[in-house]
Amino acid sequence: MVQCIFCKSSDNIVKAGFRHNDSGKKQRYWCKKCKNRFVPNDGFWKMKHKPEIIAEAISCRKRGMPYQEVSKHFREYDKADICPATAYNWVQKYGKVLRKFNLKQIPKLSGKINLDEFVSKFKKRSSIVG
Ligand SMILES: [Zn+2]
Repeated sequence: MVQCIFCKSSDNIVKAGFRHNDSGKKQRYWCKKCKNRFVPNDGFWKMKHKPEIIAEAISCRKRGMPYQEVSKHFREYDKADICPATAYNWVQKYGKVLRKFNLKQIPKLSGKINLDEFVSKFKKRSSIVG
C-alpha cells in the first residue's frame, strides 16, 4: 500500500510513470488529494522522522556538511539513523520549502543592515552583558 508523503493519505494515489536515478527505476505516484507527485523512499517509510530532524539535516547540508557527515552527525548524537541518501532526498524534497520558511523568519537580516553594522551591534551588546 502506498501512502502520500505529503498528506499521509493512502486513498487517491495513482501511478504516474517512473523516475530514473542511481538506484534504478522507481515508481512515481501522484496524490489526487493534495496534488503532489512523489516517489516513495524506503527509508522514509520505515522511520518516519520528525520534521525537526529533517530541518536539521537540511540546515547541516546548507552549512556545507557533506551528506556522509550529516548522517554521522545524527548517529553521533543518537538522534536518528539516516543514511546519506536519505539526507539527500530530504534536501531535494524539502530544501525549497525550508528556504522560503527561513526567509520569512529573518527578513531584517538581508538588505538594510549590512554585515559590519550587524557585527558591531552584536559586539556592543555582548560587551554590555559581559
Ligand atoms: Zn497527498
